[in-house]
Amino acid sequence: MKIAVLAGDGIGQEIVKEAVKVLEVFRSEGQSVELEFAPVGGKAYDEEGDPLPPGTLALARDAQAILLGAVGGIKYDSLPRPKRPEQGLLRLRKELNLFANLRPALLYPELAAASTLKSEIVSGLDIMIVRELTGDIYFGQPRGIRINAAGEREGFNTMIYSESEIRRVAHVAFDIAMKRNRRLCSVDKMNVLETTELWREIMIEVSREYPGVVLSHMYVDNAAMQLVRNPKQFDVIVTGNIFGDILSDEASMLTGSIGMLPSASLDAQGKGLYEPIHGSAPDIAGQNIANPLATILSLAMMMRYTFGDDMLALRIENAVRGVLAKGLRTSDIFEAGATRVSTSQMGDAVIAAL
Ligand code: NAD
Repeated sequence: MKIAVLAGDGIGQEIVKEAVKVLEVFRSEGQSVELEFAPVGGKAYDEEGDPLPPGTLALARDAQAILLGAVGGIKYDSLPRPKRPEQGLLRLRKELNLFANLRPALLYPELAAASTLKSEIVSGLDIMIVRELTGDIYFGQPRGIRINAAGEREGFNTMIYSESEIRRVAHVAFDIAMKRNRRLCSVDKMNVLETTELWREIMIEVSREYPGVVLSHMYVDNAAMQLVRNPKQFDVIVTGNIFGDILSDEASMLTGSIGMLPSASLDAQGKGLYEPIHGSAPDIAGQNIANPLATILSLAMMMRYTFGDDMLALRIENAVRGVLAKGLRTSDIFEAGATRVSTSQMGDAVIAAL
């Protein structure tokens, strides 16, 4: 397993350290684990003047999988856009063609009380959102702010998807649905947007190759509503970049804590970037209180989707379940009666459970 480790900024450094401990356990058991470390984001800007230095990109290209912490920090917010940490991450996803973003929203029974929704609505929740990550209005050209004919400033972006971009993410989503409960909901806005009219057409076309999967369609505004009304109706959701950005954040909050949710971003060959969904949390960085479980669970996704090793994935997931069942909680998921632990204590508890 050749893994590039890019811890990044803020709590990224602390949480990745705990995930690396898990990989070291696997290595001590005889797995071949090769780790290479490099800076990304603000740290890379500080050291090399570039949030994605050529050396980091080369290392990421060379690896089979990338473990990333988080990037960003207040002191970088005034930099020119291309120098900002977040641009480093966007470029990394684009350069490596990581077009399929997988974000599970899974509610651990022990954390049902952490959700802002009633527990009967969310208990047992297990959704997988597949978000297209390298196209859509976030990347479409032309874009900018210009002076229009009336002499007024106007901002503009381009929502655009090619057939092949839609088709490849459709295949990822159908493949995942095949391994789950075989229900796929494609989210679009085809009543008003031509881009998503094509999206729906291609989804239907690809569905003919997956007769075992039930495909349904939903408008994005309805999907946003259904996610809080009756989230358990969903198994796998597939959608474009901007809709997926918003819906996956909404879905993550159903589970109560941003510190618990992993993600994977895959290319067509199964190479992947694995990272927690949260950011660098500057408000708690350096205090050894961040929750490392989202990052550790990202490793479980890495074992499953890049290395095809369900056993190692399950071992990690079961270890996390084990520590939660014991009542261990970092501050973000703390509740009365539980034992409050630090970032490193949580990491150690997972290692012990492994
Ligand atoms: P954030 O996710 O960093 O933090 C939001 C809130 O959640 C904060 O109160 C934080 O303390 C808490 N939180 C996040 N992760 C946690 C964890 N593991 N354990 C406990 N609490 C946790 O989002 P933000 O504050 O909007 O952004 C902070 C910085 O992170 C910004 O610079 C932003 O651009 C960047 N960011 C990066 C990524 C990424 O690297 N993929 C994603 C989102 C935001």
